[in-house]
Amino acid sequence: MSWLNEFDDRLAALDAQSLRRVRRAVLPEPGARLSVDGVSLLAFCSNDYLGLAQDPLLRQAVHTAVDRYGVGSGASPMVSGHSVANAALEGELAQAVGLPRALYFYAGYATNASIVPALVGEGDALFSDALNHACLIDGARLSKATVHRYAHGDLARLDALLAASPARRKLVISDAVFSMDGDVADIAGLHALCERHDALLLLDDAHGFGVLGPQGRGALAAAGLSGPGASPRVLYMATLGKALGVAGAFVAGPERLVEWLLQKTRSYTYATAAPALLAEAVRAGLRCVLGTEGERRRQHLRALVAQLRAGLAPGAHAALDAAGWALLPSDTAIQPLLIGDNAAALDVMQRLREQGLWVPAIRPPTVPLGTARLRIALSAAHQADDVELLLSALRHAAAGRAQALAAAPQGVHA
Ligand SMILES: *Cc1c(COP(=O)(O)O)cnc(C)c1O
Repeated sequence: MSWLNEFDDRLAALDAQSLRRVRRAVLPEPGARLSVDGVSLLAFCSNDYLGLAQDPLLRQAVHTAVDRYGVGSGASPMVSGHSVANAALEGELAQAVGLPRALYFYAGYATNASIVPALVGEGDALFSDALNHACLIDGARLSKATVHRYAHGDLARLDALLAASPARRKLVISDAVFSMDGDVADIAGLHALCERHDALLLLDDAHGFGVLGPQGRGALAAAGLSGPGASPRVLYMATLGKALGVAGAFVAGPERLVEWLLQKTRSYTYATAAPALLAEAVRAGLRCVLGTEGERRRQHLRALVAQLRAGLAPGAHAALDAAGWALLPSDTAIQPLLIGDNAAALDVMQRLREQGLWVPAIRPPTVPLGTARLRIALSAAHQADDVELLLSALRHAAAGRAQALAAAPQGVHA
């Protein structure tokens, strides 16, 4: 029998572990709502933290850009795909994050998966936080460097690993904001270790750029490591499909490192450049992020985060206390509610969905085994009433689950 038949069993095994993922085709609606199969759901699953993905200014920028540039870029940036719009965006991104130079990529995953192998290779050493995003992990694998994984945020361990490594070239890679936990890395601490051990630091600020730091300039600016005193040993990467509301990514840093990446990053050289219409949309998003409207949205988002955390704090509600779900410590828009068991997380997701809310259950391998969670993502597109709805739906789901478990106590998870 052909081994291809095994794929049926392998898919069935995913079902048995509540690990099968399904997609839903969505249609955006005003506010933070999505129409899914004709049903309107209040969504807490988007990384569009500032509500820019539906913004009229960005839409207008795209309309104008289409008339000027057309649709596709036609080639790699190394050939003729590097539009004047993309070039202008790179200058504005570098200035926004306070670093000498930036390189604009069509996607964040491809950026990390290929800048890491451009920086280090066989015989070199990589140091990676255990909760790093998959694309940093894949970049590490592709690089063939020796990978040292340290427990999440354990800088003492990182210090020891750096000290023990005989490699001459050392690269530390870390999410700046951890995508499934919402906590912020100790960037000053990481940088100090890199100074001590002559290492280079690569930070992935996919979830911080646009929302953290002065004027939303990101986690590096928040840590005081950008601008005139920018470090020669930091590369800063961020994506443009989250708070910036569009798509794509960039990496910024010292001139010689960015020039090296321009020469040696395979996903830059061998991929079609991002279309100018997207670059123009990002430029419009960036103007918003850096201006008073961005500030207003960030303030609103912070208020929603505080409102949600107060409503989920221990003692806020008996049914929630009894459920034993743990709200992870985070002050970013990512507010994970730890449930533990895969099936239980899916059950709570389903109970919320029945109440018209979409909060995704995140399961392994995206998160460690036994730490399935609801990843609540807040956005400036939400209103205080939306957060109130979520809190009330969570209380209702907790009470409903308690009832179901009491009715069938024998090994029932779902
Ligand atoms: C989303 C994300 C990426 C990937 O970026 P895309 O532009 O979506 O490919 C990279 N790193 C982190 C931490 C992310 O959350």
